[in-house]
Amino acid sequence: MGYVKAVVGTQYGDEGKGKIVDQLAKDADYVVRFQGGNNAGHTIVIDGEEHILHFIPAGIFQGKTCVIGNGAVLDLDKLKEEVIGLEQRGVSVLENLLISENAHLILPSHVEESKTDKIGGTGRGIAPAYTSKSNKTGLRVRDIINVQCPIDQVDLDARPNLTLFRDYLLKHSYLMPNIVNVAKMLNFEIDMEKNILIEGAQATGLDIDHGEYPFVTSSNCSAGGICTGTGIGPTRITDIIGVAKAYVTRVDRDGSGPLVTQLDGWHGEFIRKQGNEYGATTKRPRRVGWFDAVLTRHSAMINDLDELIITKLDILDGLDELKICTAYELDGEIIYDYPSDGIVLRQCSPVYETMPGWKGSVKGIRSSRDLPIEAVRYVKRIEDLVNVPITMVTNGRDRKDYIIFD
Ligand code: GDP
Repeated sequence: MGYVKAVVGTQYGDEGKGKIVDQLAKDADYVVRFQGGNNAGHTIVIDGEEHILHFIPAGIFQGKTCVIGNGAVLDLDKLKEEVIGLEQRGVSVLENLLISENAHLILPSHVEESKTDKIGGTGRGIAPAYTSKSNKTGLRVRDIINVQCPIDQVDLDARPNLTLFRDYLLKHSYLMPNIVNVAKMLNFEIDMEKNILIEGAQATGLDIDHGEYPFVTSSNCSAGGICTGTGIGPTRITDIIGVAKAYVTRVDRDGSGPLVTQLDGWHGEFIRKQGNEYGATTKRPRRVGWFDAVLTRHSAMINDLDELIITKLDILDGLDELKICTAYELDGEIIYDYPSDGIVLRQCSPVYETMPGWKGSVKGIRSSRDLPIEAVRYVKRIEDLVNVPITMVTNGRDRKDYIIFD
C-alpha cells in the first residue's frame, strides 16, 4: 500500500515545514503543494547551504516529482526566477515539475493591487488573485495553452483578461509540457500504490475559515484544503502530520493580528535573535510568544492530526524557565476552546503553566534518550495538552538535525 501523507502548520506558518517535507520526501514518489502562493517561504539547509523555496515543493532537493495543485496561485514571472535560481545551483526543476491546469494565476495587476492591502498580506498579489478566482474573472494555468489557439470572439468578450494578458501568457509557454490534469494524475498514482507527500504552506491559525479571521491568509491551509486543492478525496489521505515550533511566532504587516502569548520584553528579544525570527519572504521581524497549547489543540482538531512534530527546540536553550499557555482568560472567565475570531482573540489573555528550562544545549543530539530531562518533560507536557503523539523534534537548521521522539 502506498500512502498519502500530509504536513500542515499548526500555528501561524514558518514552523519549519520545509525541512520536515524535505526529510519525509525521501521515500515519497510525489511531493504536492495544495494552496497559497509566494507568500510562503520554505527554507532548507543542506550542508550549510540555504535554499529558500516559494512555489516549488520542498521535495525538489530529493529529486522527487514536485506537483503544484489547483488550490495554489502562481506568479509566472516569480516562478521563472525561482526555477532559474534553482537550476543555476544544479537542481533539476523543470523535468521534475508538474503544474495543475486549474491553478489560478497571480497577474501583474494583482501584485499592484495588493500593495494597498488593508489587512496584513505580503504585497505579492495573493489575496487579489484568490478574489479573482472567487469572482470568476481569474486566469488559470491552462490559459497558457488556450492562448496558443484561435479563441472565439464570444470567449474573448467574456474574458477580457485573456486579451489583456495575452503576451504575458505567451511569454510563459515554455511551461506547456509541465501542465497536467493533476487530480487525474494523482488519483491514478494512488491507485498504483505510489507514495504521495502533501505540503501545506502557512498554517491553521491563518486558515481563511478556521483561523483568526480577518487576520488570515486567503486560502484553506488546513487539511481540508488538500481535497479541494489537489482533487484527492478525503478518505484517500492516510496520515496528517502537524508541525509546531517549540514557541510561537507571527508575522504581519502592522502587528495587528492576535498573538495571545506575545512576549515583548527580554524573552521575546532572546527568542527572536536565537531563532533568527525574521520573515523568509518579507524579512519583517516576527512577533514571538510562548507555546500556545490552545491554538495547537484547535489545529489538532481541525486537521485531525495523527502526529505532531516540534521544531526549533534548540532555540529555547539557555532559558531558566519556560511557559506554556494552557487556557485563555476572556472577560474574567477561563476558556479552553479557541475562538476562531481575530477580534475576540485580541481580547484574550494567556493562562500559563511554568516549567524549568534545561542547562546546556540540545544541539547535535541525535537520540531522545540523550536530551536533558527538562527538555523531554517540556515536549511531553505539550503532547499531553495537545493530545497528539509527538513523533519527532528538530534541534537545528540542517537536514540532519532531528530526533525521533520515543
Ligand atoms: P515553513 O514556512 O514552515 O517551511 O518554515 P521555514 O522554512 O520558514 O522555517 C523557518 C526557519 O527555521 C528556517 O530558517 C529553517 O532553516 C529554520 N529551522 C527549521 N527547523 C529548525 C530547528 O530545528 N532549529 C533551528 N535553529 N532552525 C530551524
